[in-house]
Amino acid sequence: MSVLDEVLRSNALFVETYDTGRAMAPVKRKLAIVACMDYRIPLEQAFGLKPGDAYIIRNAGGIVTEDVIRSLLVAHYRLGAEEFLIINHTECGMQTFRDEELRDDIRKRTGTDSIAPEQFHAFLNLEDHVRQQIQRIRSHPWIPKHILLTGCIYDVHTGKLTPVPAL
Ligand SMILES: [Zn+2]
Repeated sequence: MSVLDEVLRSNALFVETYDTGRAMAPVKRKLAIVACMDYRIPLEQAFGLKPGDAYIIRNAGGIVTEDVIRSLLVAHYRLGAEEFLIINHTECGMQTFRDEELRDDIRKRTGTDSIAPEQFHAFLNLEDHVRQQIQRIRSHPWIPKHILLTGCIYDVHTGKLTPVPAL
């Protein structure tokens, strides 16, 4: 059963009290955030973000993929973002399997192979993982060196965000 009906009902209530100023909010913080899609990270609530505060890019694992780089480039060169935050978190689901396990599982269930995605980016060590995402951004020739770039770990049990020191 689809949850679409529930979503549409909630949206109808939202529309009734919709703040039209929301669509007009100017960009204030010039911030772009790359975060895991995990529901336990309530970005707006946990970091005091209001409409216009940040461009938010989320995917499974908070991975800096080619498409995330694409969004960061648009955020900087077209939308004015000057600071990037990478947010990964404790107990990430991407630490619970290996790429090849998931690939085998899907292959078995579908009876077919696929060349994409090339990788699922499952990982083991959280700090190493954060540093790897930072490195992917830093090493891209189109990301200016003056961009402030910080990798952080969000603790899903305490709600605390901690920057990961560079090595
Ligand atoms: Zn996660």
